[in-house]
Amino acid sequence: MKKMLFLCGLASVCSGAVLAQNLQNNPNSNHANKFEQLGSILPTPNEYRTASGAPGPKYWQQRADYNIKATLDEKNLKLTGSEIITYFNNSPDVLTYLWLQLDENEHSSTKNANYQTSNALPRQTSVQALEGMAQKGDNGLGINITKLTDAAGKPLRSVLNKTMLRIDLPQPLKPGQQYVFNVDWNYKISDRMKEGGRGGYEFFPEDKNYLFTMSQWYPRLCVYSDFGGWQNQQFTGRGEFALTFGNFKVQLTVPADHVVGSTGECQNYAQVLSAPQMARWQKAQTAKDVVEIVTLDEAKANEKEGTNATKTWIYNANNVRDFAWTSSRKFVWDAMPITVEGKKVMCMSFYGKEAYGLYRPYSTKAVAHTIKTYSKFTIPYPYPVAQSVEAANGMEYPMICFNYGRTERDGSYSEGTKYGMLGVIIHEVGHNFFPMIINSDERQWTWMDEGLNTFVEYLAEELWDNKFPSRRGPAFAITDYMKLPKDQLEPIMTNSENIIGFGPNAYAKPATGLNILRETIMGRELFDYAFKEYARRWAFKHPTPADLFRTMEDASAEDLDWFWRGWFYSTDVTDIALDSVRYAKADLNATSPRFRDTTVTQALARPQLNSFEDISKVRNREDKSIRFQTDVDTSLRDFYWRYARGQEPYDSTRYSIEVPASLEPLDDATRQQWANKHFYELHFSNKGGLVMPIIVEWTYKDGTKEIDRIPAQVWRYNENKVVKAFMKDKEVASIKLDPMRETADINEGNNSWGATATEPNRFQVFKQKQAAVRGQSTGINPMQKSQEKKGF
Ligand SMILES: [Zn+2]
Repeated sequence: MKKMLFLCGLASVCSGAVLAQNLQNNPNSNHANKFEQLGSILPTPNEYRTASGAPGPKYWQQRADYNIKATLDEKNLKLTGSEIITYFNNSPDVLTYLWLQLDENEHSSTKNANYQTSNALPRQTSVQALEGMAQKGDNGLGINITKLTDAAGKPLRSVLNKTMLRIDLPQPLKPGQQYVFNVDWNYKISDRMKEGGRGGYEFFPEDKNYLFTMSQWYPRLCVYSDFGGWQNQQFTGRGEFALTFGNFKVQLTVPADHVVGSTGECQNYAQVLSAPQMARWQKAQTAKDVVEIVTLDEAKANEKEGTNATKTWIYNANNVRDFAWTSSRKFVWDAMPITVEGKKVMCMSFYGKEAYGLYRPYSTKAVAHTIKTYSKFTIPYPYPVAQSVEAANGMEYPMICFNYGRTERDGSYSEGTKYGMLGVIIHEVGHNFFPMIINSDERQWTWMDEGLNTFVEYLAEELWDNKFPSRRGPAFAITDYMKLPKDQLEPIMTNSENIIGFGPNAYAKPATGLNILRETIMGRELFDYAFKEYARRWAFKHPTPADLFRTMEDASAEDLDWFWRGWFYSTDVTDIALDSVRYAKADLNATSPRFRDTTVTQALARPQLNSFEDISKVRNREDKSIRFQTDVDTSLRDFYWRYARGQEPYDSTRYSIEVPASLEPLDDATRQQWANKHFYELHFSNKGGLVMPIIVEWTYKDGTKEIDRIPAQVWRYNENKVVKAFMKDKEVASIKLDPMRETADINEGNNSWGATATEPNRFQVFKQKQAAVRGQSTGINPMQKSQEKKGF
């Protein structure tokens, strides 16, 4: 109703045909909220985070520096550590306590977060599962805090709540102050292959050796932020980490025959490597290809040894949010340098003989490719090393990650294993950027690191191999998930702990959404610039979803609120149907503009009866300035009020709406111009709920093809139905929507139309006398043309 009045008001400046056409196109015009701005769904901008999506003038973040000495006791499978933490309160707040994360309690039967899920009696199960059910009491896993003191050695009060430890500060920590304290701890290392989780050991029965992947291994500071206060949601094993940046000095004491890979730069290779290994390490600094620092033969010899002696490897890592390492006597270690914007990055890999056939040719090269590609799409890789470790899993830490990819015993492997390995290496190395550098809160938003990382992983895979079998990224690959019944879908903006479809919802769907933005909605140039700007703005900072959404729009001049709303906040899916097609040719002998006249008359002649006199009417009547300014006030409503009371004479020249004058016949040139055009009217409906661009592929009768792209805003007046008219030089044989499957349309069965109507309809074309033309008319769809002129 509102729209009708609005258009009536425009009748004197638009042609009547516009009105008629628009009413026809929108028989049940419905505004829902798909194009409304996100508004209060996003947090209010403030001096820490601006409305443009950038860090604000008073942006702050905390810092925690660690000085850690740890000893790996392989015989007893125990890790013992002592750490000094310096915590910098850069916030404007006074802190009375700090929170430490004790992630290893995940494995404890008594100190874990104990988030349970419903479980029915199994129809069949394993002995191990029954042993799990039978487990009672303390399984002995989890971290033991043996000492917690301030810098002077005075014990600190603390309270453990499962995986979170609150340290009560003896004195409030004021803004700008630092606090130094000590924690000593130890824990029984768990069997990662049995207990699950990210860190622990893998035992190789054949050679009786261990491969340790040490992660979440030391008490770590929680994030305290402007947007969330302390992030101390329990660690359940699912939602990953929220971590504070800082500098690390770490000394790792391990069996002397172990090879260590770690976050950071080793400070004492000269002491821990043999002379030939040290020489190879030095040679690798300028090598053009991969160099083995520890060779396969050395690794095989190492496997057979075993020693009571130890060595201490010393590492420094600056401006990292976490620290992880690996240690084993099974490792081959190779390295190759690359240069990223003038800075050397040592790309390295560690792997046992089981993975040699795949890791030796591919791993370090995949690390190098990932670092280079991500540096192009985000920010230049800032760290001195990047490492890939074969550990039969997939998990990421700063400068180091754990991946899978072992060959058959004879060294052979399938293409599936190879591409799986390449995908996981690219993915895990890629995590250096999201979330290790662009440090989002993984505990809250899995998609902010997994989704963004999976998207750039896809870009990197496609650039590694044009036929790379990428699982996640292309729009068509997400449709099987999005076809699920609505009650099995979840918005991307679901908290990490609560997601059911973890892979599709937190990895594939956000990655696909970014790819659709890049390829279909924004275009590569606008997207790439804005995405890079997000990375640049938030490198070494803590972004939130709003910072991403706002930056993408701020840097591109694309209003994407409809896309965030639909793709990230809702469970709507794409299913655009081509319901019907009308085919017409121009009738060039029209002589009278009946259609136009009647429409205008109908619209204006609609009676308006108002029996109730509202306050505005009463006040207008009482307002003497309106009643007596008869010579200046020419508004229609007040004129008739005055006219009816004999206060003003009627003057038709002042108040009539112009209608077009008579028509003149078309000249030959004009007839020739339009006679052979083919006109098509396409009727679309939105069956999936998600608004998307409409991509129309025309196949002409001569076999040639053409594509028209209609931006998603075409749905803004009516989210359910759209009609579009097209003029073509050639007759169309068939039509297909989204031919390159780039919008994740879940039902391709309603996307096409084959040639059926051979006999076109006719519609009249006329030429108006110039004096009578107000606005414009093409005779087909004036609305379309006026929209195009405005640049839609
Ligand atoms: Zn990941």
